[in-house]
Amino acid sequence: LSSSSSTAIRQVKLDKECELRIEVGMETPLRLRLLTGTAEIFGTELPPEIWLTFPPRLKFAVFTWYGATIEMDGTTETDYTADETPMISYVNVHAILDGRRNRAKASSTSDPDSCQGPRVIVVGPTDSGKSTLSKMLLSWAAKQGWKPTFVDLDIGQGSITIPGCIAATPIEMPIDPVEGIPLEMPLVYFYGHTTPSVSADLYKALVKELSQTLERQFSGNAEARAAGMVINTMGWIEGVGYELLLQAIDTLNANVVLVLGQEKLCSMLKDVLRNKPNVDVVKLQKSGGVVSRNAKVRQKARSYRIREYFYGLANDLSPHSNIVSFSDLFVYRIGGGPQAPRSALPIGAEPAADPMRLVPVNINRDLVHLVLAVSFAKEPDQIISSNIAGFIYITDIDIQRKKITYVAPSAGELPSRYLIVGTLTWIET
Ligand code: ADP
Repeated sequence: LSSSSSTAIRQVKLDKECELRIEVGMETPLRLRLLTGTAEIFGTELPPEIWLTFPPRLKFAVFTWYGATIEMDGTTETDYTADETPMISYVNVHAILDGRRNRAKASSTSDPDSCQGPRVIVVGPTDSGKSTLSKMLLSWAAKQGWKPTFVDLDIGQGSITIPGCIAATPIEMPIDPVEGIPLEMPLVYFYGHTTPSVSADLYKALVKELSQTLERQFSGNAEARAAGMVINTMGWIEGVGYELLLQAIDTLNANVVLVLGQEKLCSMLKDVLRNKPNVDVVKLQKSGGVVSRNAKVRQKARSYRIREYFYGLANDLSPHSNIVSFSDLFVYRIGGGPQAPRSALPIGAEPAADPMRLVPVNINRDLVHLVLAVSFAKEPDQIISSNIAGFIYITDIDIQRKKITYVAPSAGELPSRYLIVGTLTWIET
């Protein structure tokens, strides 16, 4: 195992079942191509000989089942070859899931249970490789022609859309290691915060909404039902985080729980799920390649993710700045604020904050730098149960002229005038 940081064009020969782990340099992209053999990045095969460009800071591994030669051009923070990986155990899980998909597809009854493919939920602490394993399982399934649904419940570092959301989308092709998941109409719900403790009730309600919508979609789509789901979760696994994990397993009817690198969590889950014989809890080894990120790095990653939403991965989008009147938009917050006025309560009782209350927000300069979700709701009372069309961020509020300046990914009118605000901020740098 050697670690290096270099710049020249160089070749790396990988033996079978080995991987080249790379952290692209901080400033410049890295070019890489497959010269001989076959190799994949997190489940997606590399095309032969074509140069691929990886953006700065990306961390990934090129794995080969049978041996390969890789050529690299550019600066890396680190790159080294590892011959110990958990890939065989991961692909074995894939094979079992694939068998279940085939059984579900072949099922001749209309019983929703027997034509239901695997619903896999990946759990573990932060930086255990949950998102990476989710991507591999999805890409391997897509390579075999399945269109599994990816459900991302990670409000901290989502793979489908910006942080603070839960989302789902069908995966129709192996996931592009550079571009990520194509954003064709994902189903998105806005939680608005990057930690679950702000409003666990709201989080639960949104998981429920998402699950009901998916259930409706599956009821008319046997192919999607047989392909099943892969559900990625948050790294919070204690206290309220653990409670939310259990709720997600239950609400989404997960039947395979993959626990990455945590003995204790695995045995706790085995214990609480022991009276559900159709749920398998499986412990998997964490890959030694998973890079740990501290709070600051995670915060930075969130910020990049929001930037990417507005500007594109390669700065290839041009977001539009718009100015509208205060009266053109209705901004709401979900939760907080006392439920009943103090005067209406028994003496001595404190007014409780209703976590699910829709609170109209006064437009003022506090909104500057906040990222708001544009709801698909047609009426305010649909806001909590509605999914999200997209996001804007507020760059200026002119109190005197009663004008809001915001940036949206594209020009033109917003799909709705109902906006949701949480605590998600972004400062353009
Ligand atoms: P989690 O979802 O559990 O927080 P991730 O799957 O996002 O963890 O992994 C954390 C980081 O480690 C990501 O940047 C990911 O690309 C990187 N990573 C995961 N597996 C490997 C590997 N085998 N080699 C190199 N980098 C990896």
